[in-house]
Order: sequence, then C-alpha cells, then structure tokens
Amino acid sequence: MSVIRFNLGRFNFAVWLLLIFTAFPFFAVSQTTNSVDSIRVWPSPSNTRVVFDLKNKPEYSYFTLSNPQRLVIDLDATKNGVDLNSLSHDSKLLHKVRTSNPKEKHSTRFVLDLNKAVKAQVFALPPTAPYGNRLVIDLMDLEQSQAIVKDQQSNNHNRDIVIAIDAGHGGEDPGSIGSAGSYEKNITLSIARKLQELIDAEKGMTAKLTRTGDYYVGLNKRPAQARAFKADLLVSIHADAFTTPQPSGASVWVLSANRANSELGRWMEKSEQHSELLGGAAEIIQDTAAERYLTQALLDMSMDHSLTTSYQVSRSLIRELRQVTKMHKKSPQAASLAVLTAPDIPSVLVETGFISNPEEEKNLNWSKYREKLANAIFTGIKTHFKDTPPDGTLWANQRHDNRKRTHRVESGESLSLLAQRYNVSVTSLKRANNLSSDMVRIGQVLTIPSS
Ligand SMILES: [Zn+2]
Repeated sequence: MSVIRFNLGRFNFAVWLLLIFTAFPFFAVSQTTNSVDSIRVWPSPSNTRVVFDLKNKPEYSYFTLSNPQRLVIDLDATKNGVDLNSLSHDSKLLHKVRTSNPKEKHSTRFVLDLNKAVKAQVFALPPTAPYGNRLVIDLMDLEQSQAIVKDQQSNNHNRDIVIAIDAGHGGEDPGSIGSAGSYEKNITLSIARKLQELIDAEKGMTAKLTRTGDYYVGLNKRPAQARAFKADLLVSIHADAFTTPQPSGASVWVLSANRANSELGRWMEKSEQHSELLGGAAEIIQDTAAERYLTQALLDMSMDHSLTTSYQVSRSLIRELRQVTKMHKKSPQAASLAVLTAPDIPSVLVETGFISNPEEEKNLNWSKYREKLANAIFTGIKTHFKDTPPDGTLWANQRHDNRKRTHRVESGESLSLLAQRYNVSVTSLKRANNLSSDMVRIGQVLTIPSS
C-alpha cells in the first residue's frame, strides 16, 4: 500500500512540473502587445455587428457618449493595424470608426461615430475557425426591433382580444377547503365559466379556459396554455385560505419584478423556447443575425410590457371588485407565483375571497355572488382593454376609426371635396354638423358621418 501511494505521489509531482512549464509560455504571451489586425462591419436592417479581429484575447472597456452619439472602446496594450480610412460599409447605425487619444500610452482608443442612439453590446469571442480572437460590438436599433415585434403581432388586423382564464387547482388538488367542506377548485371553475360566458358575449373578445373540468393542470402548463391561445391576458382565479377564520376579502396579485427578472434569465438559457416566446420575431432575428442580445432585448421589452399591463389590469380589477366585496388588500400585491411567470403574457391572479372565513365561504357557495364576482372581473378586464386595446385587435381599429372621424378644415377645402374624400354625401355631412349652408371656414372641425 505505502509503495503505491509513494509512486502516485511522484507521478503527481511530475504532472505538476509539466503543467507549470507548459502554462508558462501562455502567461508570457499575454504580456506582449496585442493588435487589431482587421475590422469587419456586418449591417442588417435592425442592427450592425462590428468585429475587431485581434492577435490575442482583448482586454477592453467601453462607454457611450451622446451629442453626437458615440461608442468609445479602449483596448489595453493594443496597437491598431487597420487603415480605418479604407473601412467601407453601409450600416445605417454606424457612421465611421476612428481612433482618438488613448487613455494610456500602450492602449488604443477606438471611437464609433453613430447615426443615432443605439443599444450596444460589447463582448470578446475566443478563436473558432476560421476566426481568431475577436471583440464583437453589436449596435442595435431599438426602434427597429420594436417594430419587428409589433409587425409580428398584428398579422390579423381585426382579431379578438384573447383572455385565458385559469381556474385554480382541480382534480386531485382541491385547493383550500372551507370549514363547511367547500373546495376551492369547484368555486374557481364556476367563476371561470361565468367569466368566460361574459367575455364570449362581448364582441371583440374571446375567452379560453386552461381547464374546462375537474382535473389537474400543472402550474407551468397554465401559462404555456395561455401562450398557445395567443392570450393577451392570463387571469387566474383562486379563493384564499388562512389558518384562522378571521381574514376576509379579495386581493389581486401580479408577478414581482424580482421573480420576473429571474424568469427572464431562465428563459434566456432555454434558447429553443425563444422562438416560441417571440412568435415570428425569432425567425426574423435568425434571418438577419441569430443573436442572443437581440433576443434578450426583445424579451426585456416583452417582459416590461407584460409587467406594466399586469399592474394596470390589476388596478382596474380592484376598482371593480371593491364594488362587490371587501378588499383584503387595496392595492395590487406582488408575489413569486408560478402561474404568473409567462414573460410575454400579462398575468394576474385574483383571490376572490377567503374560503376559510365562514361568511365568505357561504358567499362563494352562492351562485349569484359568484356571478357578481365574475361580472366585476369582466368589467375590470374590459375597461382596461377598451382604454388600451392591443394593436391589431378589432377594438384598436375601432378606436382608430373613431379618431379618424373628425376633420379640421384646411385652406382650399370645400364641403364637396371633403364629402368626396370621405365617401359621404354633402347632405349627410351637413346634417352631421348642423350646417345650414355649404360654407366652411379654415380650422373648423367637422364630424365625418359613417355614410
Ligand atoms: Zn388557490
């Protein structure tokens, strides 16, 4: 035993010596001066990638300046070997690349003069054939990427606003159980069905249930279903419970910003879900430059939108719910709840009351009361979407049409010209505006009748 151990020890020592000697030359190389050997510019409609090809791994820092917009990159112990005057490109974001006074004697300062404010990402890439060490600068046109998302979402211009209704619990999971023996899962499904009826009866809205009967649906499957429905909102219905019978009242919950951020990170790791999450936008990104940063930015925007909308909807819900029930919490509550974690879909959770409170349990078991709750939730959702209908929906277009239906008279315009332009008769135009003559004056605002 001891002999073997001794031999192993000697072997280890030899390995260590070998490692030290082989590692040393690498260490020595990193002390020598680096150099930028070429610069490549890759423009696409919404972003531009600038690649610095370097002899060694770059040590760098960067910052942006505005008025005019610039991105400044400092490369330590590096010299520039590129003739920047002969660097031609047709990027809409990048004006030109130049050098400026370095921050240290041996460093090089590159300045990217930009045509507009961009989101910049700078990172180093290790050698992979056919390329060597690289410093990548991604300049992203945020307006453009936003336009891509919008475009993708508005394929159908008169679509319904889709509300995914999630009845909490189900099947072997009864949820909370009241002292009179009522199951939360039955109350939530009943309210969900009533809410669905109300929504489906409203022109321009459609409701979909994540569960339609008494069976269990996994917590993560619920937002996934909402996504499959292409929902504009996920509303999850629950009834609260507490260890003592006193607490009562409803509350509305949204995803906490902290959980939202960690969810975003989790989604970023699963690149196969990017395209699912971004709809068609992911394909467009792939066509131009299949890049992580752009996905990240789009996800960020998507998440921002979801969180903002969730909060607005929850406020609207509270305004309505407080008309029919006491509120346990008067403002939206933020929590880390699995059913709310879709980064792309505004999601709210409504606790309709405490099933552990005997009085509320009785109420929740009363069909008329559940109807009132469903009505309040419906009105809250409807009010929100009437105010801010998503692009491409019937409601958004109706708003748009209504807005178009007035006209401020400009110089040279006559009633007959306007009648022609709006495809209405002069008579109806006069009637709609109580005009007794054909005269209009500049600046007069006319209502344009629908026919
Ligand atoms: Zn519940």
